[in-house]
Amino acid sequence: MKLDILAFGAHPDDVELGCGATIAKEVSLGKKVGIIDLTQGELGTRGSAEIRKIEATNAAAILGVSARENLKFRDGFFINDEKHQLEVIKMIRKYRPEIVLCNAIDDRHIDHGKGSKLVSDACFLSGLRKIETSLDGEEQEAWRPKVVYHYIQWKNIEPDFVVDVTGFMDQKVDSVMAYSTQFFDQNSKEPSTPITSKNFLDSITYRAQDLGRLINKDFAEGFTVERYLAVNTLEDLI
Ligand SMILES: [Zn+2]
Repeated sequence: MKLDILAFGAHPDDVELGCGATIAKEVSLGKKVGIIDLTQGELGTRGSAEIRKIEATNAAAILGVSARENLKFRDGFFINDEKHQLEVIKMIRKYRPEIVLCNAIDDRHIDHGKGSKLVSDACFLSGLRKIETSLDGEEQEAWRPKVVYHYIQWKNIEPDFVVDVTGFMDQKVDSVMAYSTQFFDQNSKEPSTPITSKNFLDSITYRAQDLGRLINKDFAEGFTVERYLAVNTLEDLI
């Protein structure tokens, strides 16, 4: 199955938090989108790998994505080496996306920056035909996505561009709240963490509102790029 967009996250819920509304919008426009989670988030303070798997499936359905897979790397301890790069390359060659979305280049959780670089490096390596991979016994062809964009999650990183996501925030918040063990829940008896605060839950909306304000829209999500953003004509900019 070829996809238009493949979004990677170090943990289930990273993609929803970073670019859920953008994905919902692209799906509504007819694009085929997939999500690859690098780990099962098994070290998360709340919940468990089993519960998060169910939550991730529900969140994917809310966003309308065509595929979601989990590479089951070790939460907290995976590294950016050949072994892990090859597993990511297999996913890129399987789904052959034009656009790859991945974690913030730098963030509070150490897996985010690591996952960001791992996916970005794998996107480059995936285009080298002499790197041989196979999946389910079949040899894979080289594939390099056209662009890699990094979404923004915990830290307030200055975006290189923003996407108008007005009309898609409800879907994003619903997809985030599908992870009911992870975020603000006043009835939860589990320990509190920075991401279980009400302020963090509210930040999903107030950041999008603030980025939207700067482009005269209601809501926006921001991304950073690794090279110049290119447009065909000046009219491509809104
Ligand atoms: Zn995360």
